[in-house]
Amino acid sequence: MNTATQEASIRRRAPALDVAVVGGGMVGAAAALALARAGFSTALLEARAPTAWHVSDEVDLRVVGLAPSSLALLDDLGVWTSIRDARAGPYAHMHVWDAGSGAAIDFDAASEGRDLLGYIVENNLVQWTLWQALEAAGGGSSATSVCGVRRLCPAEVKGFEAREDRIQLQLADGEILVARLLVAADGAASPLRQLAGIGTRGRDYAQRAVVAHVRTERPHEHTAWQRFLPGAVRSRGAAFERGPTRVKGSLPPESPQGLQVYWSLHLSNPIAIRKHGRTPGPAFLCPSRSCQPGFL
Ligand SMILES: Cc1cc2nc3c(=O)[nH]c(=O)nc-3n(C[C@H](O)[C@H](O)[C@H](O)COP(=O)(O)OP(=O)(O)OC[C@H]3O[C@@H](n4cnc5c(N)ncnc54)[C@H](O)[C@@H]3O)c2cc1C
Repeated sequence: MNTATQEASIRRRAPALDVAVVGGGMVGAAAALALARAGFSTALLEARAPTAWHVSDEVDLRVVGLAPSSLALLDDLGVWTSIRDARAGPYAHMHVWDAGSGAAIDFDAASEGRDLLGYIVENNLVQWTLWQALEAAGGGSSATSVCGVRRLCPAEVKGFEAREDRIQLQLADGEILVARLLVAADGAASPLRQLAGIGTRGRDYAQRAVVAHVRTERPHEHTAWQRFLPGAVRSRGAAFERGPTRVKGSLPPESPQGLQVYWSLHLSNPIAIRKHGRTPGPAFLCPSRSCQPGFL
């Protein structure tokens, strides 16, 4: 079959969608839901099925800080109340200080006439709730409807070709999908961005990221604490009301210290040290933690 015949056959088999959203993380799932609600025929393609979230699960190490604008978006999509009621850590203050100079800066929701600065929520909870909403919106795994989203999962996009009036997506299983618009919501490394030849600039921070949960002696006072240390080591804590506080920091890759030693030297201190008499006291390391290249 020559290319023209092949194309004609693809068009006959698959009516073009308005939008194909690639990546069903929180960004892609929210985009697909919003597009479908706005009346666009939409497909969501995700390589890995999301993991079900359960309240009995340990708090996930991967979280996001959601500002009021993001909360409003999730509220518009009808998912925020479920997420908040499941498990979310509101914070109303942020205290940032430099360990060397003692210089500090404070952000306070009340000074801006608001109750909160935002919420810390687990990624997999947001993603799972959005996927539940997609399911409830009536999008099956194969059907396309005006308000539903056609979910293809597992479906890995291996390549795409942009034509004048449409985009043709090639899936790993050989399927071809045609859409008028492609939304690449495929994460920080974005394979689609690379396929599109869109360059990025980055530099090596010469740091490794450390993320851990701690339990503190006193309440965290709905405050996100951030301390900057000499050598660009940064620590910050964010809070869950009914669970552990999360701490994130970085250490040089050549550091001879083990994580446990590093913890006691750097990460526990920012919370343990009294600053304006406001910190939540000594912090105790919980078992879950991760150490990875790059700074988050
Ligand atoms: C350990 C960790 C800690 C973090 N801490 C914070 C924090 O404290 N505060 C904060 O605001 N943010 C934090 N982040 C960042 C935050 O998690 C991300 O900004 C956010 O999750 C991005 O969501 P996303 O939907 O864009 O991408 P992702 O969640 O990465 O989703 C992308 C999806 O695309 C899919 N995909 C990729 N390629 C393809 C393909 N070719 N075909 C089909 N599907 C594909 C992937 O399977 C994935 O499900 C942290 C991230 C990590 C890893």
